[in-house]
Amino acid sequence: MASRVVPVPSPLQAQAPTPDGARAPDLISTVAAGAGQSGARRPGPGPRCARCPRLVELRGTRRREYPNDWNRPVPAAGPADARILIVGLAPGAQGANRTGVPFCGDSSGDTLREAMRATGLMPDRVRITNVVKCLPPENRPTGDEVRNCASWFVRELRDLERTGGGVVVALGRVAHTAVVRELGARQVDMPFRHGAVYDAGSRGVLIDSYHCSQYNTSTRRLTPAMLRRVLRCAARLAGEHQ
Ligand code: SF4
Repeated sequence: MASRVVPVPSPLQAQAPTPDGARAPDLISTVAAGAGQSGARRPGPGPRCARCPRLVELRGTRRREYPNDWNRPVPAAGPADARILIVGLAPGAQGANRTGVPFCGDSSGDTLREAMRATGLMPDRVRITNVVKCLPPENRPTGDEVRNCASWFVRELRDLERTGGGVVVALGRVAHTAVVRELGARQVDMPFRHGAVYDAGSRGVLIDSYHCSQYNTSTRRLTPAMLRRVLRCAARLAGEHQ
């Protein structure tokens, strides 16, 4: 694929931040409703996917220690025909691995979903996923684990292609690298850079953001205003905002 940098549109340039409002009272149920399948099984790896022995072992350990947590592969949330696909790294111990919904229940999820709400992105219009569907030790999947799980991620990118092309928001370098690899492009032509906007061929457009991890937000590497600008740009490019 011939990659080119898309001129950065105005929403990513300096803009007055949107004031944050009150948090949703029941975050998990609100987000689960945004998954869009009303309790139906979401497409993704089955609960016993065993391709990654290290992660399978951790799932078993967590299941014994925290039997009420999800402790299974976490499929994407949101409609398959969404025109915005937000991609993170992997489920967090207190977030998706506990709740079963990507970016739900922990600090990263709060940051992302606050930014979505502040920019008018409704959960039922956005698909949210992770490159790796199982909780990795210390939040660090190996290269083999990323590759093992790629088949699910490829399907999510193909769903985006079926919409006629939309916007992939890559949260962090691992997500960016996985997207670029699946596009068949060279990393050197599409380096990770917060706020970069790239042509993603038939998938549409790729936008990079620093990951909304607690580390990045506490060090202010990523501020809420920076994330809102990225999402506002994604919404504009996907036609969600005029
Ligand atoms: S990370 Fe993906 S491929 Fe590996 S065990 Fe979990 S679901 Fe399967």
